[in-house]
Amino acid sequence: MKYNFKEEQLIIKPYKSEQSIYIREQKGVYQTYRRLLSWLLIIMFITIPFLQYQGQQAVLFDIGKQQFRVFSLTFWPQDFVLLAGILTLAAFALFFVTTWLGRVWCGYVCPQTIWTLAYVWVEHRIEGKRNQRKALDKAPWNLNKLKKKTLKHSLWLSMSFLTATTFISYFIPVQSLYTDLLSFDSTGLITFWVLFFTLCTYSNAGWLREKVCIDMCPYARFQSAMFDKNTLLVAYDAQRGENRGARKLKDDAQQLKQEQGLGDCVDCNLCVEVCPTGIDIRNGMQYECINCALCIDTCDETMARFNYKKGLISYTSEQALTGGKSKRFNVKLIAYASFCLVCSIAMILWINARIPLEASVLRDRNGLYSVNYQGMIKNTYTLKILNKSQQPLHFKIKIPELETITLKLPQKLLIKPGAMQTVPLTLIIDRNKLDNKMTNINFIIQAIEQPRILLKRKSIFFRD
Ligand code: SF4
Ligand code: SF4
Repeated sequence: MKYNFKEEQLIIKPYKSEQSIYIREQKGVYQTYRRLLSWLLIIMFITIPFLQYQGQQAVLFDIGKQQFRVFSLTFWPQDFVLLAGILTLAAFALFFVTTWLGRVWCGYVCPQTIWTLAYVWVEHRIEGKRNQRKALDKAPWNLNKLKKKTLKHSLWLSMSFLTATTFISYFIPVQSLYTDLLSFDSTGLITFWVLFFTLCTYSNAGWLREKVCIDMCPYARFQSAMFDKNTLLVAYDAQRGENRGARKLKDDAQQLKQEQGLGDCVDCNLCVEVCPTGIDIRNGMQYECINCALCIDTCDETMARFNYKKGLISYTSEQALTGGKSKRFNVKLIAYASFCLVCSIAMILWINARIPLEASVLRDRNGLYSVNYQGMIKNTYTLKILNKSQQPLHFKIKIPELETITLKLPQKLLIKPGAMQTVPLTLIIDRNKLDNKMTNINFIIQAIEQPRILLKRKSIFFRD
């Protein structure tokens, strides 16, 4: 494929972090999808901590109690393997989506993009359009500028505070968090984290914006390694667009092509002005591109104005751009998808088979056994039982190996949800009832209300 760039267009200007980017607001089909998706995700982010399940916060990552509650499931540090599974699944899901749809995560669902979109929207409403914002920044300080800047930053800070408190409410029970914050009674630690995340949101979405994507995000650096010729990306059709050149609305495209060798790009520069990372997509694929499709929407508008076919900039693939047929699914994609499926099934099975009970048995360290005044053998144990479910449960303890012997074992031990109970246990047995000096025994701990919740713990009974 022959790209007909002028020499100066081939120079990809290095990103200048000190330069401010004034984004032109753009509407269009893809922007409608982005806004709807952003709203949906923001609403979910805000409302999830308020959801209740069986009288408790439905989703709570309680770091203090070391419990992660998600509706009917409670996860404990012992369930760490699940976190490894989630991270592996997330990584492969990202590989799958990136190989298939390019940086769709960046353009549509990344919190950095969504929050930046919201902050730019506020900026636009207060300071005006792109040129007005530029002029305002250049203008000397006066009452009008002070008013607009104060209002903008106050709104940005309020949004940041709301974001920070919402984020913290995933870790601290939402009711106590808001009660403490509103009554200025929160602890120093909570106040610190709320202020910390407020500052992070304010600086990331208000000030740093595209710098986070370009200079800080590691995903931007390695995502191109996952691309192949069929990956969906935002690209400019240089064969159709070049040579670019300005023209009037009434000019005939065919005539311009024949007489002046002009392509369909009218060189309006709008695709650069709307770009949140400040790049010119006509220079080819660049790692700064977050696939937000703002340039597609604006270029389509321009094409419509000139009565040209839409799609000069479009979601396409390298394969399609060079005249080939894009393959939607290839071996790499199918492998990633299969791995995600296997990983998801394994996690579901693991969660299903998981028993919300933890128990351990410790023998008395002071001696193997002792003999009481009746000549009976005493072995002492300490049982630790953790009820990992969300309901109070009664537990009974059995030792099948000693079923023929009368023992005093707890038969209705009430343990609160999330509580650990230590149960000292002494087994007193007539030595004649045991054949060996060492008898292997199993403690069976079972919930009466839910017999499926059952654990077996091994130990030994010694006699002389
Ligand atoms: S928006 Fe389209 S027509 Fe305008 S400069 Fe960009 S590619 Fe060319
Ligand atoms: S080049 Fe287009 S798709 Fe890429 S970041 Fe800029 S506006 Fe978004």
